Amino acid sequence: MASARALRIDFGLAIHGGVGTLTPAALTPELEAEYRAALERSLRAGFGALRSGGSALDATVEAVGVMEDSPLFNAGRGSNFDERGVITMDASIMDGSTGAAGAVAHVATVRSPVRLARLVMDQSPHVLLVGEGAEHFARVHGVKEEDAAYFYTDRRWDALQVAKAEAGARPNVLGDSDGDESVEASPSEAPDPTSRSGTVGAVALDGAGRLAAATSTGGMANKTWGRVGDSPIIGAGTFASHRCAVSCTGWGEHFITNAVAHDVHARMEHADEGLAAAVRGIVFERLHRKVPGSGGLVALDADGNVELSFNTRGMYRGWIGEDGSPNVAIYAE
Ligand code: ASP
Repeated sequence: MASARALRIDFGLAIHGGVGTLTPAALTPELEAEYRAALERSLRAGFGALRSGGSALDATVEAVGVMEDSPLFNAGRGSNFDERGVITMDASIMDGSTGAAGAVAHVATVRSPVRLARLVMDQSPHVLLVGEGAEHFARVHGVKEEDAAYFYTDRRWDALQVAKAEAGARPNVLGDSDGDESVEASPSEAPDPTSRSGTVGAVALDGAGRLAAATSTGGMANKTWGRVGDSPIIGAGTFASHRCAVSCTGWGEHFITNAVAHDVHARMEHADEGLAAAVRGIVFERLHRKVPGSGGLVALDADGNVELSFNTRGMYRGWIGEDGSPNVAIYAE
């Protein structure tokens, strides 16, 4: 498990592309280079939005949109399959400066779920739309849709077969481990290191001091039909306020029951903790004690402090500050 050294930016963004058993031995040099290049593209897209006068919200949409379009990540194209062999996706976005939020869950046709989440925020009186209703809303608003072949990748199909075999061998029990550090049952620690990682997210701080967060995912491989994880749940997988912006990745059920993204804000707001103490207290103590290897998050505060923390072996991640030069990492440091 690891956390980045102390980082601070005047404006910019931080991103993640999922957690898992990511070690140098687990990725081929070619695949690692592809991931690094995709993370850099995402950071540059988000930074480009900020530099051209866009808001923190715009930056998160652009950064997440790049990763949704890449087949490498478990979001948009390249999403995980559920138990039926069908892809359904979830996403959310929150504007820390206004407290507005939008989210979609269980959508199968939308090319960029994060852009649809933003439309729900901007163009509807609601926060969360699901399934066919969300897709109808997308159609009404002229959102780009794709057929199933667009989202399909061999890697995720193979990961589904692995997940099915594992599920047969070991029931996927969803309980806390009551502090037993020997329990390593997290789905994010699967034998195939990239099979379940890849949920994407971004947090951004713009020149006007506004914070925003966005997250997008295909969910966990072999998930039960209808299952929705933390990513589209405001306060669980995504949260932003005047204090901080947070995007999470990992075993979603535990992020929901621990209200992880909101807890970062709550610790800062009510317990007077700084960003680093709040994030690390959640990721390394609360979550890791209950469920070793449960996941990680990226977070930014209003002073520009950046946290990229995870209790797994690695997390695809990156950050970019006012100099416009992208920094990316995958493994624990
Ligand atoms: N948090 C996502 C979910 O549970 C999966 C992940 O981040 O890998 O749907």
